[in-house]
Amino acid sequence: MSNRTLTMIKPDAMKNGYAGAILDMIIRDGFRIVALKQLQLTPERAGEFYAVHKARPFFGELVEYMSRGPIIAAILEKENAVTDFRKLIGATDPVKADEGTIRKKYAASVAENAVHGSDSDENAKIEGDFFFSALERY
Ligand code: ATP
Ligand code: MG
Repeated sequence: MSNRTLTMIKPDAMKNGYAGAILDMIIRDGFRIVALKQLQLTPERAGEFYAVHKARPFFGELVEYMSRGPIIAAILEKENAVTDFRKLIGATDPVKADEGTIRKKYAASVAENAVHGSDSDENAKIEGDFFFSALERY
């Protein structure tokens, strides 16, 4: 399904009150919201989501960060959704992110970078299924 991606508005952005502004940027960029929910990940579920990074030195910090408060998860639809959304959010490190990107505007650091975006069509499907049942998609 090459026209869908999965995003999370991460705990730092939620706490800072940026969720509305970030969703506005997403919608204005032409993404349609297929599914959306607010939830708090347990450390176990956060570790499962980012399992690919298990061996990295920042894994413990990443799990603590992603489970410390509520997030918003959403499936987004647009042509070339994965690529276009990565463009909209900008580089992992906000210092390196282009002007006008979500991370440039709202991310504090490479560790606490406001939003997630899937990195491939395959992972977009896995991550969408991680958060949403078929009945939660419109
Ligand atoms: P995401 O998967 O959340 O969209 P990304 O694909 O831009 O981010 P990844 O390499 O997948 O970047 O890293 C996943 C997350 O791990 C980052 O978003 C960030 O929260 C954290 N992270 C990545 N690199 C570092 C680092 N050098 N130090 C601390 N945390 C990091
Ligand atoms: Mg990633």
